[in-house]
Amino acid sequence: MKDDKEMKKEDGYEDVCYICRRPESSAGKMITIPQNIKICQDCMQKTFDSMSSFGFPPININQTPAKRNGGENKDKEGDADKNEEEKKEDQNLNNVEMPGMGMFNLNDIFGMLQGPIPQKVKTKKKKKKDEVAPVFDIEHIPHPHEIKAKLDEYVVGQEKAKKLISVAVYNHYKRVATNTMDEIEIDKSNILMIGPTGSGKTYMVQTLARLLDVPLAITDATSLTEAGYIGDDIESVVSKLLANADNDVERAEQGIIFIDEIDKIAKKRNTNQRDVSGEAVQQGMLKLLEGTEIEVPVGASSKSAMVPMTTVDTKNILFICGGAFPELDDIVKERLNKESSMGFVADLKDKYDDNPDIIEEVEAEDLRKFGMIPEFIGRLPVICTLKHLDEDMLVRILTEPKNAITKQYQKLLELDEVKLEFEEEALHAIAKKATKKELGARALRAIIEEFMMDIMYEIPKDDNIGTVTITGDYIEKKGGPKVAMRSE
Ligand code: ADP
Repeated sequence: MKDDKEMKKEDGYEDVCYICRRPESSAGKMITIPQNIKICQDCMQKTFDSMSSFGFPPININQTPAKRNGGENKDKEGDADKNEEEKKEDQNLNNVEMPGMGMFNLNDIFGMLQGPIPQKVKTKKKKKKDEVAPVFDIEHIPHPHEIKAKLDEYVVGQEKAKKLISVAVYNHYKRVATNTMDEIEIDKSNILMIGPTGSGKTYMVQTLARLLDVPLAITDATSLTEAGYIGDDIESVVSKLLANADNDVERAEQGIIFIDEIDKIAKKRNTNQRDVSGEAVQQGMLKLLEGTEIEVPVGASSKSAMVPMTTVDTKNILFICGGAFPELDDIVKERLNKESSMGFVADLKDKYDDNPDIIEEVEAEDLRKFGMIPEFIGRLPVICTLKHLDEDMLVRILTEPKNAITKQYQKLLELDEVKLEFEEEALHAIAKKATKKELGARALRAIIEEFMMDIMYEIPKDDNIGTVTITGDYIEKKGGPKVAMRSE
């Protein structure tokens, strides 16, 4: 007969724990209780531990029943029988004997939980190197210009930000890979990204994580609160990262955490109330940013007695914070005006008023004025700013990136053997509409989807259609698209 392991390998499935949902490969050997429910040893022990807190005598599942019962079983059963019994008991803990409790059937407890949950998960095949090989290998971290060249394929414009990030990421992973910080301790190069909505902050980080093949967790600073208050506590971001790394602690420790809307946790001005979601969150994040060991639940987002915990060190996790920081430009302008109007080199007072890229001059002092605490700013030493996307940039975003949205639609229609073209005016009309929405590039997809819906619906109806050209008039709802039939 084939042994258990072989069978698992053959059908490609492995058991998962009913409680913590971890597969056997990470949770260890499972205990089977009736109805073929599998529980990992950690969860089983936790169940017993929490029961003992209600006054039941403690049980250690690693001990045999005889030991648990202080040898009372001896008189009942012969030695040979007992060995058999022990083996059985280890596999099947249905009728756990507990002094002071006549009949204890775990089945009743688990029966009370929600309906049947599949007990097996498909074992993930290890990626073959040549299957979806990561672009970069963080063990041999590529040079900044190589990282930037790859980013260029996806992210349009934002040259300065791409350059800064490439260098920061290079330094970060070099520090992680070499781990030689004996003489000189290299500081962490956590990054602060400042840029308007839809300028590509999240997108750049996502692209980066994909290229480097490191796990990424994205969270919103507005959902975080000081531990103990309603909302996610700060450490929950680390458990999110761990989950995205398939509960592989080592991989999670080399990951990236992106915290969006960081400007929303600025210190609240003019308030007497306790600021549980602003300054307190900044305070709470300090240790995390710097590097600390954190106890996180495995396979769940919140801590509870039933969930096993593991320790994650955030020392090598790259933190990137992003935010729009509205009105920060006014603060920068004010400072620059003040500086330039002093001394002999006094300048025109309104010199900076018309500069749309004034935010590039931002300094730590301005962020402090905005409401970020100095210790927090100090832990984000790389500050990069992203530009507001103008109409021309939006047109480029529509067409240039490797996965540009127009290319995606072209590919879709190609499968129906239809050629899709966009006139220059159409692209500009889409960009204009998006600019009006003031959501940056984020508005593009919604606009395109709105009018492509009809096209995607109508075209497959007629096999003779060969080419569809989207015109400016069609976008402005003044006309229709140009349709050409197949020439045969
Ligand atoms: P935010 O700055 O608010 O985080 P996002 O990164 O979420 O903005 O951008 C929204 C979408 O816009 C992205 O999914 C991406 O497709 C597109 N986008 C934004 N900026 C760029 C850019 N510079 N190059 C290519 N696509 C971009």
